[in-house]
Amino acid sequence: MTLWLLGDQLNPDIAHLADADRVLLVEAHAFADRHPYHPAKLTLLFSAMRHVRDELRDDGHEVHYVESETFGEGLDEHFEEYPEDELTLMRSASRGSAERFEELVTERDGSLDVVDNDLWHCSSDEFDAWADERSGRSRAGAEEGGEGDAEKPRAYQHENFYRHRRRETGVLMDGDDPEGGEWNYDDENQEFPPEDWEPPEVPRFDPDEATREVHEWVTERFDTWGNPDLDAVVWPVTRDEALAALDDFVENRLGEFGPYQDAMLDDEWALCHSLLSTSLNLGLLRAAEVVDRAVGAYEAGDAPLNSVEGFVRQLVGWREFVRHVYRREPQAFEGDLLDRDRDLPAAYYDGDTEMRCLRKAVENVWERGYAHHIERLMVLSNFATVYGADPHELDHWFHFGFVDAFSWVTTPNVVGMGTWATDVLSSKPYVSSANYVNRMSDHCANCRYDPDETTGEDACPFNALYWSFLRENEETLRGTGRMGLVYHHVDNKDDDEWDAIGERVEHLYERFGDDRDFDSPADVSFSA
Ligand code: FAD
Repeated sequence: MTLWLLGDQLNPDIAHLADADRVLLVEAHAFADRHPYHPAKLTLLFSAMRHVRDELRDDGHEVHYVESETFGEGLDEHFEEYPEDELTLMRSASRGSAERFEELVTERDGSLDVVDNDLWHCSSDEFDAWADERSGRSRAGAEEGGEGDAEKPRAYQHENFYRHRRRETGVLMDGDDPEGGEWNYDDENQEFPPEDWEPPEVPRFDPDEATREVHEWVTERFDTWGNPDLDAVVWPVTRDEALAALDDFVENRLGEFGPYQDAMLDDEWALCHSLLSTSLNLGLLRAAEVVDRAVGAYEAGDAPLNSVEGFVRQLVGWREFVRHVYRREPQAFEGDLLDRDRDLPAAYYDGDTEMRCLRKAVENVWERGYAHHIERLMVLSNFATVYGADPHELDHWFHFGFVDAFSWVTTPNVVGMGTWATDVLSSKPYVSSANYVNRMSDHCANCRYDPDETTGEDACPFNALYWSFLRENEETLRGTGRMGLVYHHVDNKDDDEWDAIGERVEHLYERFGDDRDFDSPADVSFSA
């Protein structure tokens, strides 16, 4: 049997290797011509593939490594060398991929056995059992506690799923109760660091010769958007490096992860975030081992419960939740509940804006293909949402700009959580005025705009756009969960206020929309 490892299964310690006569890896390049991906992302992916190839060979495995344009061409080459080969593939996170791969293999007279993939924390069967039993009602019916309308996408509740998984797996449980008595410690996890706080140093993984070679080839061969320097490649490319990154996080940053997870600092890109998403998404790390390490630190008294629970919630809860909801309801992510079609502002491509928060978030993405969760949600998505940008253009932008982007996680986060083009993941949009950024960051102190003003030249653009967004989408939003208080403020504004907001918004549409004069993002240079 040949074990076919995909680009998100790059782990040399996979159990199925024990039964394999050889390993197949197909390094397909055509996808990278479809978007101008960040050079760090392409370097990371191709370098990690080549490193696992070499490691497996060093461990005595036979590896057939094929470089080709498409998977189909890669398989042609494989079956020419190994006619009628029997392939085994661990279930992929990509929607519909098992069927697609099966077709490609049988067309070439081979066979494909799709087996479980233990890199994930929650299997499809486990999620489906939960979803069908507890969350299987459509939105319409769920509100009244009934069965709902079978035609509508289902309502999925993250909190319900997360608690279920904690109970099922025993993670952070004390018998039948959550460890410490609470399911979450959010009220301890919204702090802003004091002025003299020094964030722990971020570990560096210096590119070796193989990574340098890949980077040189990537920057010559592909059209890209993002920092073309090797310095941008700060991410682990091997399992050993990923394990070192996990050690570093647990020892140096996990303790303060919780309190500062929502904070944004002008001159700090990482704070106490784990920076493990690339290693998890490439398969260098198993989700379960990351969770076990964090829980182990709590049990050993080395990290507080609020931090560990906050971290576990992301991995056991959100990461699996978005993946499975997207797998089950792909059609919900195709349209837009709010019908937005404005072009994404040019500032997302060239960083040229006086809004400090937006400038810094885009700069972080340009520099190394990363922005942390709150920058993604409350700056990049929030601004695009209240501005009325097409959520699917934002989705493309995230796909090519971020080193950790894969459809199973990027699309549900951007189209669902970030822009609320569908309500299957959350009952209301995550939108806010300048208030949130002002409270959770030091950007406003460094910005030319005033977060307390709504209208006038100096007013923070977030404010007028926020009120206008609420008013424009009132029909859809007013009745949705937990929007009552917000609409109370909308109702309190008089005609003069709305006129001034309207004027400001028109001006902002012109300002943000007028300099998109490029054919491809690859032609854009980032403004210094
Ligand atoms: P930490 O803040 O340290 O969190 C720990 C881990 O939890 C992450 O590594 C990740 O594996 C997981 N996690 C946390 N939140 C989520 C979530 N909402 N969905 C899935 N996993 C989560 N994550 C990606 O892996 N790829 C993406 O392309 C991506 N795009 C996003 C787009 C938007 C608009 C938003 C709001 C979130 C997105 N996320 C994405 C989720 C999350 O922001 C990133 O996983 C996280 O910022 C990665 O940095 P980290 O490893 O330092 O995470």
